[in-house]
Amino acid sequence: MGKPVAGNPSQFMMERSFAAAGLDWRYLTLEVSPEDLPAAVAGMKAMGFRGGNFTIPHKVAVIPHLKRLTEAAELMGAVNCIFAEGDGFVGENTDGKGFVSALKEVIDPEGKKIVLFGAGGAARAIAVELGLNKAASIDIVNRDAGRGRDLSKLLSERVGIDSKWIPWNGTHELPEEADIVINGTSIGLCDGSAMVPVDPSTFRESMIVADVIFNPPETRFLQAAKDAGCRTIDGLGMLVNQGVIGFKIWTGVDPDPSVMREALEEYLGI
Ligand code: NDP
Repeated sequence: MGKPVAGNPSQFMMERSFAAAGLDWRYLTLEVSPEDLPAAVAGMKAMGFRGGNFTIPHKVAVIPHLKRLTEAAELMGAVNCIFAEGDGFVGENTDGKGFVSALKEVIDPEGKKIVLFGAGGAARAIAVELGLNKAASIDIVNRDAGRGRDLSKLLSERVGIDSKWIPWNGTHELPEEADIVINGTSIGLCDGSAMVPVDPSTFRESMIVADVIFNPPETRFLQAAKDAGCRTIDGLGMLVNQGVIGFKIWTGVDPDPSVMREALEEYLGI
């Protein structure tokens, strides 16, 4: 559920995956206005839904209608996935989990020094999940001081991770010791020419560089990192892995991630 939902690829990806797994299930994309959210969640319960996903503008507003939250969703203060439990729904957040599971295909974040651009919803989810996976430190580079400080405070005080906010003025220079660098901002969304303000000469071959942007998956940020010899991870991996996690939570079955990725690429025309 969200508003607007036109162009959201989740239904296409999930229904392909249900079919591939031999499950006669349905995933519906539903446009719901904020004032109708309580009735819509009650309707899901009445009609026996196993769960669902929530996107803008419902990620925070849905919380009062749930029976409990998982640890990650509680720390993030936002829910993008719910599942049925007894007489109600549990709120989970798979944004960060999807990212970390894509990251783990390349590197384990435990003990790593991380630079994260952004402090919005996606960056917050990623940072909390990296903290729960025992990253050594997370530098939050963000323009807005309030959001930047809030996130580094949450990480140091509630997740127990060494974290500081670094103001983003002009072009950012990466510290030599960074192991993992992540663009968690919306820079590059639907704009292959937009570049994250970072000095590309500070990328080092040893760094793993990731982007949350999935359309286009090959961003200028990732291209610059590749040119410097870094290994890169695109935003499609995060999206696919979120789908994998939701699918398993609802059905108990492990889906084939390659079916999901192919469906996404087909839907997005990549
Ligand atoms: P938010 O609006 O919550 O946050 C946007 C963030 O981007 C803020 O930190 C904002 O900084 C920063 N930002 C935007 N423009 C600029 C700029 N020109 N210069 C510097 N910073 C900028 O959005 P979300 O966090 O929800 O989403 C961010 C992106 O992540 C979206 O593009 C979305 O598509 C993508 N995403 C991808 C997912 C995936 O599965 N791959 C899942 C979820 C999201 P400030 O605080 O200073 O305003």
